[in-house]
Amino acid sequence: MTVIIPKKVYQTIVAAAVRYANVRIPFEEWLEVSGIFIGKNEGNEVYISEAYPIMHQTYDPDAIIDKYIWSDEDYISLSILDEEAFSRGEFTVGWWHSHPGFKVMLSGFGDLKTTLSFQSMNPLAIALVFNPQRLIRQVQMPDKKGDPIIPLENDPGFKIFRLDDPHNDKSPFHEVDYLIEGYENAEHMINMINKFIINITNFFPKDNLFETYEKFVKERIHELDSKISGTEEYLKTLMRQGESNRIPEVLENQQREIRKYVAETFIKIENIKEYMDYLEYKERDTIIPKVKEILSKWDENIKILNEQLSRFSKKF
Ligand SMILES: [Zn+2]
Repeated sequence: MTVIIPKKVYQTIVAAAVRYANVRIPFEEWLEVSGIFIGKNEGNEVYISEAYPIMHQTYDPDAIIDKYIWSDEDYISLSILDEEAFSRGEFTVGWWHSHPGFKVMLSGFGDLKTTLSFQSMNPLAIALVFNPQRLIRQVQMPDKKGDPIIPLENDPGFKIFRLDDPHNDKSPFHEVDYLIEGYENAEHMINMINKFIINITNFFPKDNLFETYEKFVKERIHELDSKISGTEEYLKTLMRQGESNRIPEVLENQQREIRKYVAETFIKIENIKEYMDYLEYKERDTIIPKVKEILSKWDENIKILNEQLSRFSKKF
C-alpha cells in the first residue's frame, strides 16, 4: 500500500499542528490537533484529496498524552464532510493527529481505538501521526527517557500506520509507505515547509486571529498613507526649490516604490486567505467572513490609491 499525499494536504497537517505547538507558545501549553482525510482507494493505494482539521485538545496542565475527546460538534463535522465527499465519489480514508514534541507512534491511550474505528468503517483506512519538532529538528524522539535521539535526513515529520488486526484494539501496528507530491525533491520539500512553518507561526495564531489581521492591515494602510503623503511633500519641496525638472523622475521612482509595497502586501494578504483553509471545520463559518471583512479594508485603500497617484501627475 502507498498513500499519495498532495502538497496542500501536507501543508494542512503542518499548519494545523504548528498553530497549537510553536516557539511562540510555552512548551507546556502545546496541544495536540486531529482531523480526517478525504480521498479514495484504488486497488491497494490510498489517494488523499483533502485533510480537514477537526479539533484541538483542550488545555489541561495535568494531561497525559492523547487525552482528548471528540465533541458532538466534531462528530457532526465528520459526518458532513463524509457526506460531501460521497457526492464527489470520495469518502473518509483515515485520520491524522499531532504528537507535538513527542514520539510519532500510535499510543495505547486512544490512538489504537480511534484507528480501529476508522479501519472498521473502511478496511484501507490509515492513521497519520505528525510531530512538528521531528520535522524542524530532523530528529526521532526516543522511546523512553535516556534513549538516544536519532538524527534524520529530509524527514517530513510524520509516519503513517495501520493496525495489523482491525478487529482488536490492542493490535500491533505497522508503517505504511507514502509519497508526497508537489515538491522537486525531498530537500526542496524540507526547505519549503520550514519557511511555511515560520509564516504559520507568525501569521496563523491559535487565538486572536482577528486582532492579528486587524493590526496587520492597519499598519499596512498607515505605511501606505505615509508613503503617499511623503511623496507629495517631496514633490512640493522640489517645486519650491525650483527643481521641477526633476519631478517626472522622482514621481516615477516614488510610484515604483509604492507599487512594490502594494505587491508585497498583496502576497501577505493572499497568504492569510490561504490560512483560512487550515482552520478547524467548525471555525470556518464564524471566522472566514470576519477575516474577509478585515482584509477588505486594504482593498478599499488600493481603490483610492490610483486616484491619488494620477492626481499627483496632474498637480506636478
Ligand atoms: Zn496520539
